[in-house]
Amino acid sequence: MIIKSLFEHNLCTRCTGRIFANVDTGMTNLERGKSLLFAHKSLYGDVKEVNKCWLCNNIFDQFDKYYNMVNDLIGEYEYESFLIGSKFDKSLLLEEESLQNDYGSKGESIKKEFNREFGKYFSMKSGKEYSKYPDMTIHINTIYDNVEVIIKSLYVYGKYIKKRRDIPQTRWVHGSGDSIESIIGDQLMKMALSENYHLHGAGREDVDVMMLGNGREFVIEAVNPKIRKIDMDKFQENVNSSGKNVFISDLSFCTKDTVKEIKESKYDKVYLAEIESGNNIDEQRFREATRKLVGIEINQRTPIRVIGNRSDIIRKKEIKYINIDSIGYNTAIIKVCAESGTYIKELVNGDGGRTLPSLSSMYGDNLYIKSLDVININRGD
Ligand SMILES: [Zn+2]
Repeated sequence: MIIKSLFEHNLCTRCTGRIFANVDTGMTNLERGKSLLFAHKSLYGDVKEVNKCWLCNNIFDQFDKYYNMVNDLIGEYEYESFLIGSKFDKSLLLEEESLQNDYGSKGESIKKEFNREFGKYFSMKSGKEYSKYPDMTIHINTIYDNVEVIIKSLYVYGKYIKKRRDIPQTRWVHGSGDSIESIIGDQLMKMALSENYHLHGAGREDVDVMMLGNGREFVIEAVNPKIRKIDMDKFQENVNSSGKNVFISDLSFCTKDTVKEIKESKYDKVYLAEIESGNNIDEQRFREATRKLVGIEINQRTPIRVIGNRSDIIRKKEIKYINIDSIGYNTAIIKVCAESGTYIKELVNGDGGRTLPSLSSMYGDNLYIKSLDVININRGD
């Protein structure tokens, strides 16, 4: 009885077989449809096969057309892996589902079969790999019969050193001028033939602070790259020889996940700070002040100078050690090891009481940073 009514829906053999996709996993929908058709013929006599199917619109015979449409779109883009997505008319999908319900079945949707089967076909023709984390995502819109391709960004991990006191980490929204982002990104863009780039840093230093020592971790992202297999040695060489005093190392390909990882990393940082006072520095008092500041809770309210960009909260920070390199008449040079996220300029000057205690409050006179460098990030490398 079931088999008799099955062929009254004007469905093609494949779409008929799909109604019972959950019954037998050893068969494709087309094979199952054929065996149902055979059963029908032997039980009830011949049945006319449907040539123009209202459900699939014979889309499974059009893989070659879609393959060519994709190829025309991607032209020069380099990729190793892909993923297929598709859009079908919602009412068709609902109709299919209700038909499957009528037979007490939970079959497979046409969308799912199409994505899988076209994926196999595409892989066979292109020699590329089907992947959940693809270089390229292909969207087939079966309603308007068009194709869209999304190219995944290219991500490169590395560490940078900045030996100058006049550039920001990222580009200004308006205007030009060098930044660490533009110095690294311009070179990557040339090599990857990308449309744009973004730098994701593991924290940042101020414009006037040098980043020395073992370097700061970053991920540079090339948007819509045509070339993915870039030569890392060449990339490094191009940045380091650009005469911009920004140097990169330890480059490797990475994924978007690395951006999150490095953004969440919290390492102690070591700074070399040149400190200045309006008065003669009292050596004994200064030494005592640096000793007292170590190991206690520092309450650091968001500095006035960055308050527009960050929420106004109090962060509790700890200073791991302070070593005094030298003390002059009204200057001193110290090395400070501080917890990730400590504002060192404010740790020294007190930011009008917003950082408490500070080196100034411990010392009992106003002290300022004259120059500051990050000289190590304690990642254990
Ligand atoms: Zn069909």
